[in-house]
Amino acid sequence: MKTEAMIRAVQRKLGIDVDGKAGPQTWGAIYQTIVRPQTAPKVAFTGPRDEANAKSELLIATLLPHVRPYARALYFKARDNGITINIISGTRTYAEQDALYAQGRTTAGDIVTNARGGHSNHNFGIAFDIGVFSGNRYLPESPLYKAVGALGMELGLEWGGNWTSIVDQPHFQLRPAWAGDMTDRAMLAELRQQTARGEAIA
Ligand SMILES: [Zn+2]
Repeated sequence: MKTEAMIRAVQRKLGIDVDGKAGPQTWGAIYQTIVRPQTAPKVAFTGPRDEANAKSELLIATLLPHVRPYARALYFKARDNGITINIISGTRTYAEQDALYAQGRTTAGDIVTNARGGHSNHNFGIAFDIGVFSGNRYLPESPLYKAVGALGMELGLEWGGNWTSIVDQPHFQLRPAWAGDMTDRAMLAELRQQTARGEAIA
């Protein structure tokens, strides 16, 4: 079967506009119908360790409820592979994001972000950053970030290390189902609108 015929068949099955072209609506519907039902990460927690360490857990609590199991799963999966990670960043309010944006521009310190409030994936509960540790020592740079990136992708997370514009190896996120193959820019615009309307982000 030709790709177009296949897409038409899928579109018919999903009950969306049949045009043979897989755009955001089609990918969104495919994701919603086929991928989304696996809402739990692909690995189960093992043993009695159902909570990440206290500091990581505080940050995990700032994520959307359906994103939290992914962060915990990555935390334990890394440790099972001999890599100590902690969650070092979770959700930031717009005001916190604006303060971070000001750093290195109008306030002291180095520039750490190009995103103003409402323009970061961290403003909507879908993104978190991890740090690799050697014992209690935080390692800002380590080849192990790539290994953790692979583990995160196995779980179904998007990894910032795959980004081409700004490579962000500590960063992981769970894309909302409706976002399909939207660019992050378009997704963020939609997330800002949902937030402005007071809607819960799914
Ligand atoms: Zn991040």
